[in-house]
Amino acid sequence: MYKPMRFWGTSAGAPIPAPFCKCSVCENARIVGGKEVRLRSAFRIDKKIMIDIGQDFAAQAIRLGDDLSEVEHLLFTHTHSDHFNYSMFWLRLIASAEPPKHAVKVYLTDDAYSYIDKVLYSTPLLIDKNGEYLKEKNVEFVKLEFNHTYKINDIEVTPLRGAHHTALERNSANYLIKLSDGRLMYYALDSGYYLDDTFEYLKNFKLDILVGECTFPSIGGEGDGCPVHMDLTSCTATLDKLYENGTIDEQTDIYLSHIEAKGMNHAQLEEYFTNIDRKYNVKIAYDGLSII
Ligand SMILES: [Zn+2]
Ligand SMILES: [Zn+2]
Ligand SMILES: [Zn+2]
Repeated sequence: MYKPMRFWGTSAGAPIPAPFCKCSVCENARIVGGKEVRLRSAFRIDKKIMIDIGQDFAAQAIRLGDDLSEVEHLLFTHTHSDHFNYSMFWLRLIASAEPPKHAVKVYLTDDAYSYIDKVLYSTPLLIDKNGEYLKEKNVEFVKLEFNHTYKINDIEVTPLRGAHHTALERNSANYLIKLSDGRLMYYALDSGYYLDDTFEYLKNFKLDILVGECTFPSIGGEGDGCPVHMDLTSCTATLDKLYENGTIDEQTDIYLSHIEAKGMNHAQLEEYFTNIDRKYNVKIAYDGLSII
């Protein structure tokens, strides 16, 4: 059986090592390799559904020995380029001598949906040669409303507001997902420190799996007080509050992803969460990690 749920990428905006960077985290990744190397965040739920296909999807498919040929549904958290890359649609169209039989469905929430008209269909270079790859036979854009639940194949998806914005979007979409086996997952990239409404909404649920961001893995480092991303202080404060609220407990599988080379490396981050005095258990995600 296909082992589906897998992190395709776990970095934030820059991969680790970052091509222009000689910091100690990037230099360590160049030497050690393995879990210390991260490409941009992307996640596969199953053979047909993925969340976020950013700038590295082609390299990730090659590296993982996987392919996107059967993917029918793409959920996007927001349109920052580390999460959303329209070149996927072009590659899909040209992949075969035969045109694709079905359009891939692309889900965007609220303001993010305006990206289609404001950027994709308004940029002459993108619609060169009539923009065949952006036409309905190849891609169908679907608008989702926050706090509404949708059935996509055999999963249920509810987008909740994240405290993260782009030039177009007031809020990122974080996805509460009921998986086909009944487990409940919350995929929260890029979330920032959760909005009050989001904490409240999540009080009604007990998560089996939480995928959260730890963009700046340091205390009082670059991300200290960053309103749109989390460092270790805000990340731990979020987890503490989710635990207090009963949204997570000792059994919840918590994975941190969307990690920059701004503080601890993978091994140091693992050690930090091993030694932290909390009842919940945190795993540090890495590229290629499967969730069973
Ligand atoms: Zn991001
Ligand atoms: Zn670096
Ligand atoms: Zn972002």
